[in-house]
Order: sequence, then structure tokens, then C-alpha cells
Amino acid sequence: MGYLIIAIVLFGLIVAFIYGRKLELLKLDARDVFKLNKSVSTVLFVTSHPDDECMFFGPTLLHLIKNNVTVHLLCLSTGDYYGLGETRRVELLNAGLKLGIFPSQIHLVGSFHDDIDNYWDGREVAEIVDKFATVTKAEAVFTFDDRGVSGHRNHISTSKGVRNIKSDVKIFELISVNTFRKYIQVADIVLSIFNPACIALNLGQFRALHHAMSCHKSQLTWYRRLYVIFSRYMFINSWTEVR
Ligand SMILES: [Zn+2]
Repeated sequence: MGYLIIAIVLFGLIVAFIYGRKLELLKLDARDVFKLNKSVSTVLFVTSHPDDECMFFGPTLLHLIKNNVTVHLLCLSTGDYYGLGETRRVELLNAGLKLGIFPSQIHLVGSFHDDIDNYWDGREVAEIVDKFATVTKAEAVFTFDDRGVSGHRNHISTSKGVRNIKSDVKIFELISVNTFRKYIQVADIVLSIFNPACIALNLGQFRALHHAMSCHKSQLTWYRRLYVIFSRYMFINSWTEVR
């Protein structure tokens, strides 16, 4: 028992050290993580449902916004699986304000139906993303990878669609980790630190993200509340540049 406690304490110290080191590095490197334009930067996040921005992309959104990058959010469905599309639209706008994304930078297109059993047409997704990449003059597009973090078919379709866009922009995909890593919160920094495009939040930023997530009232079931507490995506994002 004594050895177990010592091991847990040692592991906790290692996590705290690496986490602290990462936060320091982010202060110095800030926008360099994604090699974005130093003067004027605009990026486009492409999500599938209102609440994806908080549940999966929050650390990166807050990090970029803090560094004066203009962030546009394109959400491809209203999240109307239970017929709550209008409610969720308002929740998204409120959550955006908490994150620092103005309503004029949130583009909620109801072109696709929220449905976990269906894939969306990749060409249609690509056409819409191309249109918004052009309109917003985005330098880079951020979205899911081909496992969509949770394996949701709409997320996977979003990723595939973005891979097919014609716009001359960088594309970054959020790396999906296995279930164990997904729920070990900040401890996952030990395994994420080797990724050069890894973003971590400090406690103050985590609170801001928590407040933003609380705007998605219609989605706050007990299991999502647990997700918010334990998910590493509420603290850490790691990215792959696919082009
Ligand atoms: Zn989603």
C-alpha cells in the first residue's frame, strides 16, 4: 500500500512538472504552434454539432483567441436529432460569446441532419467548407480526424469532407486518442507532450471553457457532466497537420 501511494504521488509530481512546463512553453511560442501568420491570422474551425466546439476543441479555441487570432466556427448541423435545433442554435451563440467568438463569426448551417447512424456526403461537406474558407479568408482549417474523437459518423464525415476541400489552406486534424487516454484528464499530458502541436489549458482557461459548456443546457446530461470533468479534451488538444 505504501509503495502504491509513493508511486501515485511521484506520478502526480511528474504530471504537474510536465504540465507546468507545457504551459510555460505555450506562453513563449503561442501562435508558433501552428505556424500562423504573425500579423493577421484568421482560422476556420469546422464542427458537426453545437457543443463540439466546447467538448473537443475548447483548449485550442481559447489559446488562439487569447493570441488575437480571428476564429470563425462553421457548424454543419443544428444538432436537431431530438428536434432541438433552434434551442441549440441559441446555446451555440451563447457558448461562442463565452469563448470569445462573436455571433458574426459563427456560421451554423443546417445543411446536414444530426444523426449518429448516417454519414454525410463528403463532396457536399467539402463544397460548404470551401465556401466558408473563402468568405472568411481563413489561413487554416481545424477539424476532427478520421476517427472523429467519439467515432460519431457525422464527425467522421466532417473530417472526410474537409480533406476534400480545394481551398489553398493548411488543414489540422484533432487527434483521437484511445478510451483510456480520453478520460485521464490532465494526466494525458505525459503522453501528449511529444506532439509538437499540443495545446494545454491552465486552470483559469479551463473555468472559462466550463462556463461556455454550461451554455449548452439542453445537452448537460449526467454523462456529459462526467465527460466535462474527466475528459482530456477539456484540457488538452493535440493536432496533426495533414496539409
Ligand atoms: Zn458532435
